[in-house]
Amino acid sequence: MGGGLTGASAAYHLARRGVRTILLEAGSFGDGASGRTGGLALEGTAAGVVPGAEDCLATLEALVREERIECGLRLPGCWEIAHRGDGAELPWNDEGGRLRIVRTVVGGVVNPAALLLGLLRAAARAGAEIYERTPVARIAARPAPSLEIPGATINPKTVVVAANAWIGELAPALRAGMRSALTFACATERLDSAALTAIGLAPGLPFYTVDTPYLWGRTCDDGRVIFGAGLVYGAAARLERTGIGGGEAKLAIERLEARVRGLNPTLARIRFAARWAGPIGITDDLVPILCRMPGAPEILVAGGYSGHGVAMSVKAGRMLAAAIADDAPLPAWGAPRR
Ligand SMILES: Cc1cc2nc3c(=O)[nH]c(=O)nc-3n(C[C@H](O)[C@H](O)[C@H](O)COP(=O)(O)OP(=O)(O)OC[C@H]3O[C@@H](n4cnc5c(N)ncnc54)[C@H](O)[C@@H]3O)c2cc1C
Repeated sequence: MGGGLTGASAAYHLARRGVRTILLEAGSFGDGASGRTGGLALEGTAAGVVPGAEDCLATLEALVREERIECGLRLPGCWEIAHRGDGAELPWNDEGGRLRIVRTVVGGVVNPAALLLGLLRAAARAGAEIYERTPVARIAARPAPSLEIPGATINPKTVVVAANAWIGELAPALRAGMRSALTFACATERLDSAALTAIGLAPGLPFYTVDTPYLWGRTCDDGRVIFGAGLVYGAAARLERTGIGGGEAKLAIERLEARVRGLNPTLARIRFAARWAGPIGITDDLVPILCRMPGAPEILVAGGYSGHGVAMSVKAGRMLAAAIADDAPLPAWGAPRR
């Protein structure tokens, strides 16, 4: 359950292995983080490349190639930038100093909505049954797994909980190690090549800070530049009700836009073409959750990528499918101690 990148990838890989697969999405596909992500395709996890999280980009690239998903995946590298340390200066003033490029790491960009839709289509082609507007109200583990959906209870052999920021609401045993938050992004109007050169983004590489205050972003093919930063913690359902229309979330997006305008004189009077927030799950140690539920091994959970899940979620889906179909071991990240 959960129609984001994790659920879509798990459904695809399970169906390809011949497992009868039903994907249930509470709202519409892309309603969660996957439809609102910034689209930086990064290796590993937010805590680095921990064992089991290698080759996320290669996995993503191979799948996109095999299924011919047109999602603009490009992997030219990604700048790690910082407020402190050595490296080429970007013409950006932030926190009273210049931001610098301290390293170029593997990575790139992808159109996340196109990736998600392509994966869902590939899953359907492989035989997965896919349903939108089918919220799971409750998951029971005993005597056998069962899911309450509108007007029915179903009894699958195995359940995958791929609900990311909503995991704590569905699997309370995992609530202790993960918090939900809204995170924020804005897209500038289209910038011409002179403006992109003036702000140092002509090379077209995405970027993220390795120190605080956090800032990430990328240039889109049409010249818009997406910037993102900020977190407002709370229960996913409540955060979604508020959106960016009021309270702390409204202030967070205003702060982000003011910060972007302050980076470089070219951006001072820029118009923003879009602004949005999306729900993410953040774990205490920044390592995602990827485990079987203790005491209920037929229920598998994946999510909590801490804002670093575009490539990792696709790999997690493949690992979940291998665990279910081939009994492959899972890394047991985030499994609560009993
Ligand atoms: C603004 C923003 C920018 C980001 N930028 C980047 C980035 O540049 N690079 C990067 O690597 N990561 C980024 N991330 C993180 C990345 O998008 C996520 O890690 C990834 O999309 C998680 O996918 P998922 O399928 O696990 O979760 P989601 O996409 O959140 O999917 C979970 C789904 O579960 C559904 N659901 C919830 N409850 C139920 C229920 N009861 N029944 C059925 N369905 C349910 C939801 O509706 C949702 O569709 C960003 C996230 C946001 C919000």
